[in-house]
Amino acid sequence: MFIDTHCHISNKYYNNIEDIINECLSNKVNQMILSCCEKDDIDESLQLIDKYNCLYATFGFHPDQIDKITTNDLKKLEQLLKQNKKIIGVGEIGLDYHYPTDKEKQKKLFEEQLIIAQRLNMPVVIHSRDATQDTIEILKKYKVKGVIHCFSGSLETAQIYIKMGFKLGIGGVVTFKNSNLATVISKIPMENIVLETDSPYLTPSPFRGSTNSPKYIPIIAEKISSIKNLPIAEVAKLTTKNCYELFDLK
Ligand SMILES: [Zn+2]
Repeated sequence: MFIDTHCHISNKYYNNIEDIINECLSNKVNQMILSCCEKDDIDESLQLIDKYNCLYATFGFHPDQIDKITTNDLKKLEQLLKQNKKIIGVGEIGLDYHYPTDKEKQKKLFEEQLIIAQRLNMPVVIHSRDATQDTIEILKKYKVKGVIHCFSGSLETAQIYIKMGFKLGIGGVVTFKNSNLATVISKIPMENIVLETDSPYLTPSPFRGSTNSPKYIPIIAEKISSIKNLPIAEVAKLTTKNCYELFDLK
């Protein structure tokens, strides 16, 4: 069986969530971890994880939410993280410097949530775009473990994160022709890899251009299986084990 460790499932993106879930289950993607990272998605995500056994979630505020989040929202987040057994991590949180932004405000929101994760001893899911140096510097200040979501950096960056105890979330990018990720993956141990789709974004090839779904996890696993020269069943087993250990799932 496979787990999609990072996807966004919402009526905003899918007409029929029930169908999406059933398609996942028939493709052996038996569990999915939703990333609820916008204030407006909280209620829907809570309903979904309550309704479907196979769904878990991480909750946290994405860096693009900096102008919406108040101290009260952070308090509410911490309450949810404490109370709801199906919320298993903090994220996605981090830094995104791709578009012009207030970097200091992003760092503040990121650190406030790292403090919560540290206090609750929960894993974090990190979003880092065009901000590798600052992400590493900030993470070094806290005692947290977690996933670098949608990792697509250099081997050197991969090794830094691994040394810090992070796993790398590998998704559809590995199937893209122009990606260097396959070379990086060939040089890092399986124990540092978890699978993710980041649905509805980053659809793997050959379906690039259409809406992504967690049902495509086996395509990503297949690619890793060929890079690592391992049977796909082994990729499924190892990445599931990594995910279970990190998020303390049973
Ligand atoms: Zn995401």
